[in-house]
Amino acid sequence: MSRSVAIVGGGIAGLAAALRVAEAGHRPIVIETRGKLGGRATSFEDARTGLVLDNCQHVLMGCCTNLIDFYARLGVGEAIEWHDTTFWANPPMDPDRMSPSWWPAPGHFSGSFLRMRMLSLRDKLAVARGMWALIRLGRDGRAAWSGRDFAAFLAQTGQTPAAIERFWEPVVVSACNVPSASCDAAYAMKVFQDGFLQDAWSPCMGISTVPLARLYDPAREAILHAGGELLESTSAVALNYDGRRISGVTTDEGVVECSAVITSVPPDRLAKLCSDTLRKADARLARLEEVPFSPILGVHLFFDHPVMDTPHLVLPGRATQWLFRKPGEDGREHVHAVISGADAWMALDEATIVERVLDDMAWALPRVRGLAPVAVRAVKEKRATFGCVPGIDRLRPKAVPDPISGGIPNLFLAGDWTATGWPATMEGAVRSGYAAAAACTGQGGIVADVPPGRVAAWLGLRA
Ligand SMILES: Cc1cc2nc3c(=O)[nH]c(=O)nc-3n(C[C@H](O)[C@H](O)[C@H](O)COP(=O)(O)OP(=O)(O)OC[C@H]3O[C@@H](n4cnc5c(N)ncnc54)[C@H](O)[C@@H]3O)c2cc1C
Repeated sequence: MSRSVAIVGGGIAGLAAALRVAEAGHRPIVIETRGKLGGRATSFEDARTGLVLDNCQHVLMGCCTNLIDFYARLGVGEAIEWHDTTFWANPPMDPDRMSPSWWPAPGHFSGSFLRMRMLSLRDKLAVARGMWALIRLGRDGRAAWSGRDFAAFLAQTGQTPAAIERFWEPVVVSACNVPSASCDAAYAMKVFQDGFLQDAWSPCMGISTVPLARLYDPAREAILHAGGELLESTSAVALNYDGRRISGVTTDEGVVECSAVITSVPPDRLAKLCSDTLRKADARLARLEEVPFSPILGVHLFFDHPVMDTPHLVLPGRATQWLFRKPGEDGREHVHAVISGADAWMALDEATIVERVLDDMAWALPRVRGLAPVAVRAVKEKRATFGCVPGIDRLRPKAVPDPISGGIPNLFLAGDWTATGWPATMEGAVRSGYAAAAACTGQGGIVADVPPGRVAAWLGLRA
């Protein structure tokens, strides 16, 4: 029998859940406070430039099996452009390239890594030692590191200061949005084990060729086609708890009656929807305020002249970690600069931010020197992601209530911050949505991970 499932939040987690609820033959009712879909991974109309800009560059990787599946279900997979090479600035020389060869994983990057000039032989040997330790640790060894910081692992494997600054740190802070010293080691290890070492497809980088918001248009159609509803510009105000179950969601437009609720809002927002009685009835809701956040700063810069020769560029050792060359309009070059773990930048005004980013760009790109951008737009996201700090798993609740301590049987939790096993990513968001929808409908579920290559598995990276 078809049931109505209220889904609070129209970000990626909420949309992924809605799609799977609809596919299972139920009616999704998505309640989204904003007038657009996609949550943190979306676009906005910039009054200053008149352009539709992404609030920040969003990158996926080959190992993001659920996100790739989500895009395929939406029919937008072709909008993702894949890159198997990453470019690392090393001025005054041309950027170093890291690209896979025909060698089986985990040796696929060895050739290009050995050719990289930004690290000395000593640094490279240190990185190789760290990678070997990660391979031999396997997944079980990684789990044992949970609760400790990744800097301890780097120290234990004798990493050099240059290897840390130019290689490990840019990867960790970009993927986990906190530096190694504040990053739960198991999450940083996951990035290297699953994203770099286990096979050659997983490290490939996917970038949307269209504004992010456009990727979600088909979700709108799918929800309506399933007889569901999309209540945009509607805020959930409370989850209605009758002492046993959730009977509906009170919004600023009225009450949405439903037989189950999937929440996909961030933890601080969820806390506002729950009464004290509800929170006492379900242990998953007890520690919502304790989930820490970490900021990201994105800066759009427009130049009259081409400044980048590569589609993207890592800036090792600089405060600005990545530059992306975006499709420009009117012959302009559109560059997007990204600073993850951007606590130190949040209090700065836009002029100072742009000055610092330009300084980093001029370091990496000779053509930027002496050039002023014709337009800029800095976007600060103070609560960009949950902080992937040691011990964070204790604060990440599961989609379903604990069978021992109990909880509300028809309340399912989603969102990138729930217990997905992933850092705060679009992949984590989709996983959480798929898991919540499966728990709610009894159908569907998470898509399997990319299997490790044979040699990688034999050496220790077993699935
Ligand atoms: C600047 C930045 C850069 C990032 N870069 C990357 C990247 O490169 N790669 C990557 O994989 N991930 C990246 N992320 C992380 C990624 O954006 C998130 O992990 C993902 O979008 C989270 O989706 P979500 O659905 O869990 O949450 P959200 O996107 O936060 O969705 C929650 C939704 O709920 C809505 N909402 C909140 N309160 C209410 C309410 N009371 N009633 C109704 N609706 C409500 C919100 O408006 C929002 O639409 C980045 C994030 C940021 C901020």
